[in-house]
Amino acid sequence: MRIPNSDERRQNLIGGAWVPPSTDKYDPCTNPADTREVLGLFPKSGAADAKEAVDAAAKAFPGWAATPGPERGRILSRAYAILKANVDLVAEALCREEGKVFGEAKGEVLRGLNILEFYTGEGFRQHGKTLPSEMRSTLCFTLRQPVGPVALITPWNFPFAIPMWKTAPALIAGCTVVLKPASLTPVCAHLIAEAFLEAGLPPGVLNLVTGPGGAIGDTLADDPRIKAVSFTGSNEIGLRLYQRVAARGVKVTLEMGGKNPVIVLDDADLDLAVEGIVQGAFGSTGQRCTATSRVVTTPRIANDLTEALVERARKLRVGNGMQQGVQMGPAVDPGQLRTDLDAIAQARSEGARLLCGGERLSSAEHERGFFVAPTIFDQVQPGTKLATEEVFGPVLAVQQARDGEEALRLANDVAFGLTASIYTRDYFQAMRFVERAEVGMLHVNQPTVGGEAQLPFGGIKATGVGEKEMAEEGANFFTHLKTVWLDYTGSKRTSNIY
Ligand code: NAP
Repeated sequence: MRIPNSDERRQNLIGGAWVPPSTDKYDPCTNPADTREVLGLFPKSGAADAKEAVDAAAKAFPGWAATPGPERGRILSRAYAILKANVDLVAEALCREEGKVFGEAKGEVLRGLNILEFYTGEGFRQHGKTLPSEMRSTLCFTLRQPVGPVALITPWNFPFAIPMWKTAPALIAGCTVVLKPASLTPVCAHLIAEAFLEAGLPPGVLNLVTGPGGAIGDTLADDPRIKAVSFTGSNEIGLRLYQRVAARGVKVTLEMGGKNPVIVLDDADLDLAVEGIVQGAFGSTGQRCTATSRVVTTPRIANDLTEALVERARKLRVGNGMQQGVQMGPAVDPGQLRTDLDAIAQARSEGARLLCGGERLSSAEHERGFFVAPTIFDQVQPGTKLATEEVFGPVLAVQQARDGEEALRLANDVAFGLTASIYTRDYFQAMRFVERAEVGMLHVNQPTVGGEAQLPFGGIKATGVGEKEMAEEGANFFTHLKTVWLDYTGSKRTSNIY
């Protein structure tokens, strides 16, 4: 396992073999911290390649579905060992293809491996229920069975963890997979596929196709042999995909954008809140679905909080994440850089007050990457773009509320519903927040970010559609539940109901 050289051509994985794309076209993977650095050339595949991958997944499905769960788990377990032995290499690949700093990249790889480890054991636990029947001498139970070949479409911001948190549950459930990673970040997906191949996954069980989402996505969405689609990415693409797949009556799960608030009440532990907000807002350059993008604070603590946040943000060292001491990396590409700068310009024009940052960094250390200074605005008015729309960059909006009640109202006043947090020592306020925050996940006295293998992950409102990911729920998405009546009376039914 190694990181590709700059002029090295990688291929699609189809039917257990690395095959060139039908288009004969390749795209470079470029380091967003230093655009002179290229991490290999990856297939710019088209519809024909996606179809070939579905052919392979369909052919492999009966054999993989019939393989006992524990045996599937053992193959996943070998892939885990291979990746675990290469954690630093994978983390370096991640840091260089996506830009997050090495420590965060390693954290992501370890988190992805926790998820894989969790699902290795799920091979022993694919359980249904036994339930009583209305009828005598009748055994009733439910059975989980894999839905069939599935398509997994993933974004660039967690190029190791998200492909893993979709692939591992699909495989353990007995599904065969066509994985389409984001075009900007194909390297980690390749390393994952290599590990599964080396671990002994039968040909066609995992297929990997890289290239533009449009042609590949449409082919996967429309192919009648694809029985479920799991997508993480933007609302625009996700909802378009949803309409297409739902028209076939096939299972879909979508995890999309967020505009995650942190409420800080007057009684909060200020240092703890500042630490959590800085981590949530500027960690991974704010390019996390769970990033803290809003702070809603009450009056007595507001000044101290914003002053402390600005002091911390100004001190963050921004640069190439492979360098020691760097705390925040670049935007992933020129498009995301433009989005960040446009959001900053828009916030200024909407009357928000810029407290720090607000610009592209262009010193010698930064001139070859897409770096934006950690940015904080306060006096952000409800309903403005910065208060309601996802930026997906290191731009934090601070809003003030009269009291806890208004803070909760402002926190809920967005279309999205992924995650939220509250900092308070007041148990009653915390419990009101737990009950009324309109999100799929929430934290008390913790940053908005994070997830654990055994805990369901995902949002509500405009963020999420379908089953949550990770945990038992993540694997359940890839199965059908069959209900069985087993009559051992040998005579006609005796219930009053039937
Ligand atoms: P994106 O542009 O929607 O792309 C996501 C994936 O969809 C990529 O693989 C992309 O391929 C593919 N795609 C593009 N067009 C498609 C089409 N017509 N049909 C099917 N697939 C298509 O999103 P992104 O910019 O990579 O990711 C950022 C977004 O992801 C943010 O909104 C963020 O909040 C969200 N996100 C959500 C979660 C969550 O759990 N809620 C987690 C992480 C990220 P190409 O790369 O080739 O375009």
